[in-house]
Amino acid sequence: MKQRLSQILFSQGFGTRRLCAGLVWNGEVTVNGELVDDPDAEFETNGLRFTIGGQEWPCYDKALILLNKPAGYECSQKPKHHPSVMSLLPAPLRERGVQPIGRLDEDTTGLLLLTDDGSLIHKLTSPKHHVPKVYEARCKHPLTAVMAEQLLAGVELKEPESKAPGKFQRPPEISKAEGAEIVDETLLRLTLLEGKYHQVKRMVAAVGNRVEALHRPQFGALTLPADLKPGEWRWVPSPDLVWSQ
Ligand code: URA
Repeated sequence: MKQRLSQILFSQGFGTRRLCAGLVWNGEVTVNGELVDDPDAEFETNGLRFTIGGQEWPCYDKALILLNKPAGYECSQKPKHHPSVMSLLPAPLRERGVQPIGRLDEDTTGLLLLTDDGSLIHKLTSPKHHVPKVYEARCKHPLTAVMAEQLLAGVELKEPESKAPGKFQRPPEISKAEGAEIVDETLLRLTLLEGKYHQVKRMVAAVGNRVEALHRPQFGALTLPADLKPGEWRWVPSPDLVWSQ
């Protein structure tokens, strides 16, 4: 689809229409390598690459971002005690309404996906779609084969500590790991198909151990790139890559 350059910048989150037109007039925008100073110049959006202030931006109708989440950031839009992961992204992505796909706890590190595509969020967080998530849990006590077997068979999760007890009785929540591998004496690699509140920590607690540090190296078919430092992000060119690579 062809669109005016100022409209393209607007839809990619670079500010108001007026501001976007101003960026073009000021000669701050190149398209496919060429300087363009007419905000009304039309371009095919598919496959377009532009630079603003020297930084290159691919043009996607919907953004999908992979962030290496550091500890000390909350996934909530309205964080209570720590900065939001959103503060790690540049303003145009925040302006587009990008938000995390599921949540990682404040102290969990690793692969977090963010998007402005509501239907993708639904698809990737719905238990129906069975997208595997891999976690590495450093545990307090030595792991045993019995613990791994229990996690694979299914364990009953306790009420999360932070939720007020006694108000109403919930039915017991059972969670089952898809994979549970003991990597070393205290490191457990767990594969889950769901994304319940504090799920790994509650599952590990249910087998009599305790998570001391939690990291997610993999979400679906996507793995955390080795050269992406904590706090850094990159574009995922297509949501298909979550399912297969
Ligand atoms: N399970 C947890 O307990 N915490 C996370 O951040 C993710 C999964």
